[in-house]
Amino acid sequence: MCRSAYTHTRWPSPAPDPAAAALAELVALLIDAGPGDWVQRGTCRDSRDDVHFPTGREDSPGYRLGAAIAKLECAGCPVLTECRAYALDVVDLEGIWGGTTPNDRTAIRRDRDQRRAS
Ligand code: SF4
Repeated sequence: MCRSAYTHTRWPSPAPDPAAAALAELVALLIDAGPGDWVQRGTCRDSRDDVHFPTGREDSPGYRLGAAIAKLECAGCPVLTECRAYALDVVDLEGIWGGTTPNDRTAIRRDRDQRRAS
């Protein structure tokens, strides 16, 4: 097949995946709903912007120091469980939630998915 014919071929759209659509709808609902009332009971309710959103790359010393400080606050928080569960459900959340950084949450999700698959 010549290049011209290849680039002008219209490929059929993939069949819709009901599970992916349902998951996307659930994530949209979670984002719309926001974290929930437990946020008002969080230890960080007055410090989130300063402490829980360190800047820079997650592997930089500054970010790691900020994350360590935030994680200390999370360790004594009465809503740690709710907060972490929320953060694990919302994939693109930035900052420290439930004692986890975005990379921590990615690793937790990966481990959880591997356990479910085995
Ligand atoms: S667990 Fe951490 S991020 Fe979540 S509400 Fe508590 S202090 Fe804030």
